[in-house]
Amino acid sequence: MSKNTKIQWCDSTINPTMGCDGCELWDTNCKSCYAGILHKRFGGATKGYAPSFEDVTLFPGRMAEAARWSDLRRKNRPDKPWLNGLPRLIFVSDMSDALSKVVTFDYLMDEVIANVSSEPGRRHHWLWLTKRPKRMAEFSAWLRERDIEWPSNVWADTSITNQKTTSRIKHLLGVGDEGTIRFLSVEPQVEEIDLKQWLRQVDWLIHGGESGHGARPFNLRWATDLIEQCRRHDVAYFLKQLGSHVVDGAKRLGFEDNHAGDWKQWPKSVRVREMPKL
Ligand code: SF4
Repeated sequence: MSKNTKIQWCDSTINPTMGCDGCELWDTNCKSCYAGILHKRFGGATKGYAPSFEDVTLFPGRMAEAARWSDLRRKNRPDKPWLNGLPRLIFVSDMSDALSKVVTFDYLMDEVIANVSSEPGRRHHWLWLTKRPKRMAEFSAWLRERDIEWPSNVWADTSITNQKTTSRIKHLLGVGDEGTIRFLSVEPQVEEIDLKQWLRQVDWLIHGGESGHGARPFNLRWATDLIEQCRRHDVAYFLKQLGSHVVDGAKRLGFEDNHAGDWKQWPKSVRVREMPKL
């Protein structure tokens, strides 16, 4: 957990679980998930990590602690001015996927829903990411059966990396109700993706390229195209980073930091960091 994260689109991070069942970024062919890489170094040896990344572990109490963090509505964020005026935005599950199989809905109710709905928890907004939106939608239905509304301060997010994984979006649309903020993390984008049919149904899109050794190319045109499509459909767009391997057509572009996260170095046409309207 991090009260003050460097991640550009939120203030803080929290993990009610650690570890994960894996996805296209962590399987037999690919080991690029940041959380998986950190678990290889620290798992089982450092307090707060799962014994191994595949061994999904519960950390009850973390959400209650995060709920007590200060209210940021009236606090300016000099390094992230696009967040000014918003409540504290807490990214849930950057080191895990809390919708992994072994995590029960009872646990998610007690640890996540109860705390975000508590008096201190309601001061913040919680941005919950999963690559298992089908299970998140089932959890949302499970809550409804118990007359529990999806909390309005919980935004639902799924991440997609290639065209195949856009199949996750239809499940994301089943989470919550018509007032729920839903968004897409299109990162790391590793191939051409067509999102036209989905854009009008989401509120926000975060975009970025892959970073690290062996990063796959991110074409600058993917950003200009998505910016234009988001404008057309009135979707807030946020370019997080260009990644470690940026190309513009056939030309490779260089940046001072290894993930091209400093937007002052980007071409003006892609310097877009918008937040959804609350
Ligand atoms: S679902 Fe998320 S946490 Fe799990 S392996 Fe994939 S990227 Fe990593």
